[in-house]
Amino acid sequence: MTHYEHIVIGGGAMGSAAAWQLARRGREVLLLERFDQVHLHGASHGASRNFNIAYEEPDYLRLVAEAGGLWRELEAETDTHVLDMVGLVNHGAGEIEGHDQLLHQYGFAATTLTPDEAAERWPGIRFDTRVTYTPDGGRLNPDLAIPALQRAAARHDAELRHQTAVRGIEVLADGTVAVHTDDETLTADSAVVTLGAWSRKLLEGIVELPPLVVTQEQPAHFALASGGDGLDAETAALWPGFNHLRAAGDARTDWWYSDVYGMLTPGEGIKAGWHGTGPVVDPDHRSYEPEPVQLAALQRYVREYLPGADADSLVPVSCTYTTTPDEDFVIDRRGPIVVGAGFSGHGFKFVPAVGRLLAELATEADARAVSRFSLARFGL
Ligand SMILES: Cc1cc2nc3c(=O)[nH]c(=O)nc-3n(C[C@H](O)[C@H](O)[C@H](O)COP(=O)(O)OP(=O)(O)OC[C@H]3O[C@@H](n4cnc5c(N)ncnc54)[C@H](O)[C@@H]3O)c2cc1C
Repeated sequence: MTHYEHIVIGGGAMGSAAAWQLARRGREVLLLERFDQVHLHGASHGASRNFNIAYEEPDYLRLVAEAGGLWRELEAETDTHVLDMVGLVNHGAGEIEGHDQLLHQYGFAATTLTPDEAAERWPGIRFDTRVTYTPDGGRLNPDLAIPALQRAAARHDAELRHQTAVRGIEVLADGTVAVHTDDETLTADSAVVTLGAWSRKLLEGIVELPPLVVTQEQPAHFALASGGDGLDAETAALWPGFNHLRAAGDARTDWWYSDVYGMLTPGEGIKAGWHGTGPVVDPDHRSYEPEPVQLAALQRYVREYLPGADADSLVPVSCTYTTTPDEDFVIDRRGPIVVGAGFSGHGFKFVPAVGRLLAELATEADARAVSRFSLARFGL
């Protein structure tokens, strides 16, 4: 049986980052991914994700600040550009007062604008509340970032195997891990398990997890009302990433399914989506088709709040969320098994920093989970 120091199971965003972070520490790493390097079956495909730094929780504010630096390191290491600083606006009745002050405390630039000031700058978005704007927000491109992470890992001698499904793992009496694929059994000092929507399927009976709800999410790309593909700098300047936050009990937004997020995806249009409201699915038996009632409500949202987008010209996207009860991540270790799961629809921005946390848990005996991300918070 071939033995490795570390086997990373699941080559999506988090697994690719863990492989990079382990390999750049000089560790022996094997990454196993059941599909191709870039595929449409998980949570990490497409050309856009919000690098939204406008969090309220110190754990996330620190982690996103670290991630920003690590994305730049990855870009330098691989000569790839994955993060565009297009800025970000938070607005709506649910946006907190003085959010800009909080962001300043963590070293981010931010200002508060009136709805009119914001409408003048970004006429494609309708604002009816004060707006928190930060130029330190951006847009990430997963379809470039995943290959870059894996390329960087391979540069540090990580071994990558795609089209290789793991069928089972077990902890052996000597404290190492056996990893079973269709063709062979491998062993390792540690297994880093980053399986997204499939986490429960492989960890059942090995690591006790909190309830993880897998949903099929359905944002869509809407054509620019002005026509064009949004690849030009002029259009790009008009579209920061956006979060429209509703307030509980606000009758004006009671038809909304959730808060709305979005951004310009160059070449594809304006992406807009509900957050964590898709049908609960088995990741191996999905329709990849949008649920029509939610989609119609999203079109209504675009008609009312995104005048710069054409609500009737759209291309739906299908993707999975794996959501924990508190929407915080699970980044923890049990024996030789390190788990990264439950990224609850907001993990991409943090990817390289999550990779660092997973690598530390796999390589440092005294490393401990951040309590917000620990299994212990669920009494597990
Ligand atoms: C529509 C949508 C919009 C989003 N928008 C944002 C955003 O704007 N900002 C943000 O920060 N985050 C966003 N996210 C969240 C972010 O994309 C996810 O948190 C992140 O991609 C999760 O990565 P992952 O590695 O956990 O999951 P995945 O990428 O799904 O990785 C799991 C991998 O495991 C592999 N696998 C499964 N079973 C096996 C097996 N048996 N053997 C081997 N491999 C296996 C799968 O093929 C897959 O590649 C969004 C997510 C979605 C779906």
